[in-house]
Amino acid sequence: MSLSLDLKDLDVLTSNAKQIQDDVLKEILTLNANTEYLQRFLHGSSDKDLFKKNVPVVSYDDVRPYIERVANGERSDVISGGPITRFVRSSGTTGGKQKIFPMNDKYIEMMGYLMALSSLVTSKHFSDNVAEKGKKMGLHYIRTESTTPSGLRVCTALASFFMSDYFKNRPSKCNSEYTSPDQVILCPDINQSVYCHLLCGLSQRDKVVVVNATFAYVVVQAINALQIYWKELCSNIRSGHVSEWITDLECRNSVSSILRGPNPELADVIEQECSHTSWEGIITRLWPRAKYIQCAITGQMTQYIPTLEFYSNKLPIVSSTYGSSECLFGINMDPLSKPQDVSYTFLPNISYVEFLPVDHEGDMNSIVDLVDVKLGCYYEPVITNYFGLHRCLIGDILQVTGFYNDTPQFRFVRRKNMVLSVNVETTTEEDILKAMARATLVLDQSTNLMLTGFTCYADISTFPEESFDAPYKLGSKDGLIGALEIRVVQQGTFDSLMEYFISQGGSITQYKTPLCIKSSEALAVLENKVLAQFYSKKKPCSCDL
Ligand code: AMP
Repeated sequence: MSLSLDLKDLDVLTSNAKQIQDDVLKEILTLNANTEYLQRFLHGSSDKDLFKKNVPVVSYDDVRPYIERVANGERSDVISGGPITRFVRSSGTTGGKQKIFPMNDKYIEMMGYLMALSSLVTSKHFSDNVAEKGKKMGLHYIRTESTTPSGLRVCTALASFFMSDYFKNRPSKCNSEYTSPDQVILCPDINQSVYCHLLCGLSQRDKVVVVNATFAYVVVQAINALQIYWKELCSNIRSGHVSEWITDLECRNSVSSILRGPNPELADVIEQECSHTSWEGIITRLWPRAKYIQCAITGQMTQYIPTLEFYSNKLPIVSSTYGSSECLFGINMDPLSKPQDVSYTFLPNISYVEFLPVDHEGDMNSIVDLVDVKLGCYYEPVITNYFGLHRCLIGDILQVTGFYNDTPQFRFVRRKNMVLSVNVETTTEEDILKAMARATLVLDQSTNLMLTGFTCYADISTFPEESFDAPYKLGSKDGLIGALEIRVVQQGTFDSLMEYFISQGGSITQYKTPLCIKSSEALAVLENKVLAQFYSKKKPCSCDL
């Protein structure tokens, strides 16, 4: 596998996707043929046809016992021919339960490759080179790791990346491409880390050309923190001293060296901007050279588009990459595309990816290779990676939107199982997002309220109330489904929800507000903060807004 970094290589890669995918599969099967898992199906062979015929398409729960055996101390070759040196933890906020996936340094290398490639594409479109002309305010965090019973580290993919030697020794480090020193990213206390990112970003405000985070939610969350801390941040900049509660020494020392003494003029300017009653355009007012915000804005993140546009005076939002704990998929070749038009071009040299057409769940013969997907059709990717997943369904639904050379481009549509269902009917993630887009428009036009977050819950604990009118009862399956109930919650409730999920082992960099709440504990977090309640007589579900 070649991981060279040149835009010309991208053309070679995407023009030879079929051959590259076949080579990747051969390499993976040769590496893993003698694992306990593959031996059962391939008896040591690395033949593609045999792989397609004998290796079953599985879900995570089918391979969980094998993964857990390695986590509990058995040898890597139960499932992987290469060494398993750590585990990646998925966020669990998209699909419910957290999962762990085997990995090693190769994953980190691929992640660096994907990021660097997408940076090249983005720089080309903005005719700019961040390293030469400015800095990224990178809002990145790690979360304290846990270990498996056998002592292997478990953390999120991004935390693994930021803690790796690959990141520590990256060539771009000498250009200080981020406003924050690495010690801020690596600070294990999330509150100290957020505060210090803001402090470093503000004290170098004239250098910031990009605001960058994994997901849109992380940027919104940083602005929420800024609303809480701006006076204290200004006072730190004015005096040149970092607040005493920043107790992580490495973080504190590195940030002090960025402050470089008192700067009352800068503190005045920031204080003036933050004192406005409205925070409209706060990002561009505080960081006037910022050209774009870089964060994933597709799928569940679309709900944050209006908020980010409000805070940034509609700066372009560049949704650069699409990936998961199982596999890194692809990059957005058209960074200036509108959020709703974003597609990701799959990179054929990272994993072997097949596609199961939607609505053919039981029909494994309908699975096609990457280059054989059809324009406009919907698929779920099936991953075979270097680290022990073979033909594993990942639960995302994608639509083919075009081709870049031979390589398909996909729009992220939704998570597979994210549906509300009160009485057999299905309300999908896409339905909910469309409804919320309309609700946002209505709010925009008729009130001065702004939607900052939402989630839904299917309440099946009661029968619909008697107050429903007859047509509604008829139209909603003979009254079996109640009215949509909208509950307005206090400001900050969605931060509390995030804190709840993080306390359950999630990570802020991966966090996605669940569109549908399934746990009663999470529901309780919301129910404790309800300000107002409304009923619609039109929609067949219950929704917290
Ligand atoms: P995790 O394994 O916790 O990192 O979560 C991975 C999941 O996040 C993917 O399977 C997608 O559902 C979602 N995801 C990742 N990147 C994007 C993106 N660019 N757009 C929409 N959803 C994404």
